[in-house]
Amino acid sequence: MTVTIDENTLRQQLVEHYQYAEKLGLNELASGNLSVRLGDGMLISPSGASADNISIDNIVRVSLAGDWQGDHKPSSEWRMHAGIYQSHEDAHAVVHTHSDNCVAVSCQLKPLPGFHYLVGEFGGSDVPCVPYSTFGTQQLADDASAALTDRSACLLGKHGMICRGKDIRVALDLAHRLEIMCRQYILTCHLGQPELLTDEEWIDFFERMEAVSYGEFI
Ligand code: 13P
Ligand code: ZN
Repeated sequence: MTVTIDENTLRQQLVEHYQYAEKLGLNELASGNLSVRLGDGMLISPSGASADNISIDNIVRVSLAGDWQGDHKPSSEWRMHAGIYQSHEDAHAVVHTHSDNCVAVSCQLKPLPGFHYLVGEFGGSDVPCVPYSTFGTQQLADDASAALTDRSACLLGKHGMICRGKDIRVALDLAHRLEIMCRQYILTCHLGQPELLTDEEWIDFFERMEAVSYGEFI
């Protein structure tokens, strides 16, 4: 059954989750952006939003082609959000952060490897990292959207992370989870190169995930 949530409720949810992201330390000052799908477009945080200035009135309604009206400019990353909604039917919310540990790993321009079984929560044995592109560009949007084909999250080289979920709570939890996994990866790297899960261990993990249907799993 599909439950349609009205625009005002979605605006309220977006504000609450934007502020919660700051509380979790995922976004500080004006960095990162959140959106939810609405009809054939989306609601997205305004450019330059922060936990202090975001409100239900300055959230911007934008078509997936980038059309919008009003006094507030949509996030400069609207293309990345729109691309994900266009390519992934089951995406109903998108969260982009510059959280510390995701940024640190993204600056290595390598995927987060499968050092811990919970890396699998994003849909595979690693979390990919897309090459660096200038913020707000179509190139960044295309790369991020492609990376989210068989994963719910990816790192953005020398920038941060982005993820998609079936609702805003799920997407924010994934952003939080990826920050934890990047933090723990950095910790274990201090002890030496970690041993990754084997192919067989991944097969067992995904079988078990399917059996228990645990959490968000794409
Ligand atoms: P906006 O303030 O325009 O959303 O940009 C922040 C950001 O994270 C750019 O990548
Ligand atoms: Zn950014």
